[in-house]
Amino acid sequence: MLKRLPLGPRALSDAPADHQFETDVAIVGGAVGGASMAHALAEYELSSIIFERLPQIPEVNRGDVLQPLTLTLLDRWGIYPIVTEMGGFPIYEWNFFNPRIGHLGSWNFSSLPGRFNHQTILRHSRIHQALYSAMESKRRFIDVQRGAEVTGILLDEQRDVVAGVYGEQDGRTFEARARVVVAADGPRSRLRRFLGIEQEERYRYDHEYLMLTTPRPKVPEMDRKGMQYVGRHGLTVLIPLDGGEEVRIPVQIPRGAQPEWGKLSAAQLRHRLLVRAPVLEHIDTSGAMDHLSHSYPVSWTHSNRYVKRNVCLIGEAARTIHPTTAQGMNMAILDAEVLAAVIKRCFLKDNVSDETLVAYEDARRPVAEEVMETSHHQTLHHTASGVWHDIWGVRMYRWIEDEDTKREISISIAGLNNPTSRDLRILESAPV
Ligand SMILES: Cc1cc2nc3c(=O)[nH]c(=O)nc-3n(C[C@H](O)[C@H](O)[C@H](O)COP(=O)(O)OP(=O)(O)OC[C@H]3O[C@@H](n4cnc5c(N)ncnc54)[C@H](O)[C@@H]3O)c2cc1C
Repeated sequence: MLKRLPLGPRALSDAPADHQFETDVAIVGGAVGGASMAHALAEYELSSIIFERLPQIPEVNRGDVLQPLTLTLLDRWGIYPIVTEMGGFPIYEWNFFNPRIGHLGSWNFSSLPGRFNHQTILRHSRIHQALYSAMESKRRFIDVQRGAEVTGILLDEQRDVVAGVYGEQDGRTFEARARVVVAADGPRSRLRRFLGIEQEERYRYDHEYLMLTTPRPKVPEMDRKGMQYVGRHGLTVLIPLDGGEEVRIPVQIPRGAQPEWGKLSAAQLRHRLLVRAPVLEHIDTSGAMDHLSHSYPVSWTHSNRYVKRNVCLIGEAARTIHPTTAQGMNMAILDAEVLAAVIKRCFLKDNVSDETLVAYEDARRPVAEEVMETSHHQTLHHTASGVWHDIWGVRMYRWIEDEDTKREISISIAGLNNPTSRDLRILESAPV
């Protein structure tokens, strides 16, 4: 017997749902995490339905950097060629500069082992599009329901597990029964809250990010490379977008300062940008704020559990980190890859239960912890601000002098320390 329970305060109707679905896995949230989940499941011929509340792919300013390990996964799932067609732009190096002192250090990927010795940059909305367009050939396994908001769950009272989801789409109700539910519903995950999974706040950063866009400065420093300025004003990153004609510029500002930035004239904005990133003197910055909808506060949080009552948390439903090392979206994609293998294994050998699904958490939590620690460490270097930075900040970049340390950082950022389900032999190992 299945009982409907609401995810929020609004009560759910008892009337039969207008649409009934049945699937192996119901995925709540269809951004990068949810869409990758569907691809990862399709690789094992498992069916899934994505329920995404937004009717269209949104034009959001966030993760644009696909790491080398992620590229191998996208390639395996047939998405990489579409990423390339859509303007995916390989970059081989990031250089750090202080506007007054000059070059401080680099992350370099060109000598990394493996097929992908570069990151690929593609604007976030096009990464979404690439993921969805690659689903066309997998319709046998992947069903996409857009404009479909999940407002409740179906509880199997006998087993005390979540056996599906309930929601609304275009004024009609739906119910989807599934053997596993994946929460890919982002940092404010309602599923996580419903399940009573607590999140620990590890660090609250004292700044947020404006995400600006300008034409790309045509300088050698940006030829297949990205630039990061650090110094007294904090971090300003220049990410060459699709094909290199534009740059996305996350600008570190103090928490709550966005309204003040929003009132600046074009000349005042230009002044602030040139002080932070002198290379922008080569281009017109007057339209920099045109695509800005809001700024992003950043914090480091981690859920205490990833699995509860047959619901598995992935991506930002499970954790959030600072964007400096561009890991959030990449972690979401690897979550999906590992979880799909665990689900397949549960279907084949172990049956579905929290005791078996937890293999996903056992595999991902320690690796995510490591990535978050490294990322936080790098973040503290790059976001340190204040006038002292221009005098002493360069001392923080001493790692540049050590080739082994430089390589270690590049390998870790590339994701090459993070095992996939194949490295972990999840499908081959003995039943739990
Ligand atoms: C400024 C910034 C820059 C970043 N840069 C990078 C980067 O360069 N590289 C990188 O790897 N990461 C980066 N990140 C992090 C990255 O963008 C995120 O980690 C990643 O996009 C999270 O994806 P997600 O699918 O887990 O969650 P989200 O993108 O938050 O998606 C959640 C989805 O769930 C849907 N949803 C929510 N509730 C419901 C419901 N009840 N029913 C149906 N649908 C629902 C939402 O509409 C949304 O589409 C950055 C983040 C920020 C803020």
